[in-house]
Amino acid sequence: MRRFSFRTLISEAFKGHKGWERQWRAPEPKASYEVVIVGGGGHGLATAYYLAKEFGIRDVAVLEKGWIGGGNTGRNTTIIRSNYLYDESAALYDHAVKLWEGLSQDLNYNVMFSQRGVMMLAHNLHDVRSFRQHVYANRLNGVDNEWLTPEQAKEFCPPLNISRDARYPVMGAALQRRGGTARHDAVAWGYARAADAMGVDIIQNCEVTGIRRGADGAVEGVETSRGFIATKRVGVVAAGHTSVIMERAGVRMPLESFPLQALVSEPVKPVFPCVVMSNAVHAYISQSDKGELVIGAGTDQYVSYSQQGGLHIATHTLEAICEIFPQFSRMRMLRNWGGIVDVTPDRSPIIGKTPVPGLYVNCGWGTGGFKATPGSGHVFAHTLAKGEPHPVNAPFTLDRFRTGRLIDEAAAAAVAH
Ligand SMILES: Cc1cc2nc3c(=O)[nH]c(=O)nc-3n(C[C@H](O)[C@H](O)[C@H](O)COP(=O)(O)OP(=O)(O)OC[C@H]3O[C@@H](n4cnc5c(N)ncnc54)[C@H](O)[C@@H]3O)c2cc1C
Repeated sequence: MRRFSFRTLISEAFKGHKGWERQWRAPEPKASYEVVIVGGGGHGLATAYYLAKEFGIRDVAVLEKGWIGGGNTGRNTTIIRSNYLYDESAALYDHAVKLWEGLSQDLNYNVMFSQRGVMMLAHNLHDVRSFRQHVYANRLNGVDNEWLTPEQAKEFCPPLNISRDARYPVMGAALQRRGGTARHDAVAWGYARAADAMGVDIIQNCEVTGIRRGADGAVEGVETSRGFIATKRVGVVAAGHTSVIMERAGVRMPLESFPLQALVSEPVKPVFPCVVMSNAVHAYISQSDKGELVIGAGTDQYVSYSQQGGLHIATHTLEAICEIFPQFSRMRMLRNWGGIVDVTPDRSPIIGKTPVPGLYVNCGWGTGGFKATPGSGHVFAHTLAKGEPHPVNAPFTLDRFRTGRLIDEAAAAAVAH
């Protein structure tokens, strides 16, 4: 695989960029693999990459029913942060942030990771207390997070309206300076390219329609729209469709799937220096490198597999954005779309073994899994390779919903973007 470098870019520029080769192959599925990953989103591709790179397991297929990154990976608002309340979550998400920091170099692919800071607005006393609790807990865990007064918040993000009589008054904010954004497609493409170069087969347009189990109950392979593929180890990483696939193996998951939507505005010159989230009103905003304002909404109230949310949800978000940043009220929105997010009762993911021997699952990232992509892939690869969890994902078992050892970020934050 040709490396991207300043020299190769310049030399291709002089040749009209006609010499770039395919970034990954389009192989036919083999009859069997050592490991099969179901779902070619960022998490599935990252898992395959770390399986090959760190554990030398290269006989791996990533099966994707559509195109890679076409699920939530290519539909999210790309917010990255690690200032979660509980020790287990802070460790997991900060593991990911540390990997993000070297990811472009590691993959030799520019994922456009930008640590521009993520600021979470407090609009009421409950928010103030909760965010301050997060700040103190994060410091104990070595995760950066600081409390800002409304004036300091405005200094950090000048378009912010901090007038006292605003509909959503800003009473302060929690700022994680190491937080930021990355280019979502590039994350999928970068992992795909690097995994493919190590021998991983990325098979698009290949839907998994069943999971075959032997007489002993263990996994024997997967039924797909392109035939049966034998394997003794399957990792399901299918986000909003996880419960559908797991049901095919006879496993009922504690998951609900909801539509979650986002919008972009017409592109404008740089006006917005950071990422701002407002959990109380379910609105979050940043500016892409193309200049579009990227705006995210809350989930619909009803479960659904449609990749489209209710118009009233988007309208509510835009009204809130215009209250908080009045100068955006005359901007035009260009596009909106939805994804299907898989939500657990405690809003924390499930990463590990299942009751079926050979079947592993990585799901439940809900509205906030993009930020975890490298960390999630890394610890899931460890789990698949060793048959035992990495210390970072050990608490995120499926079993916690039976034992009651929840990691209740839902109670801690109400949402988990
Ligand atoms: C609008 C929106 C905004 C969001 N904003 C943020 C944010 O700002 N920050 C953040 O951290 N997270 C955010 N998220 C959440 C984040 O996008 C997801 O948690 C994350 O991308 C999940 O990655 P994944 O690889 O697990 O899933 P996906 O990218 O959805 O990949 C799963 C793949 O599995 C495939 N699949 C499903 N069924 C089958 C089958 N039977 N056979 C084969 N393949 C199958 C799908 O086609 C899909 O490509 C947002 C999500 C949405 C929808």
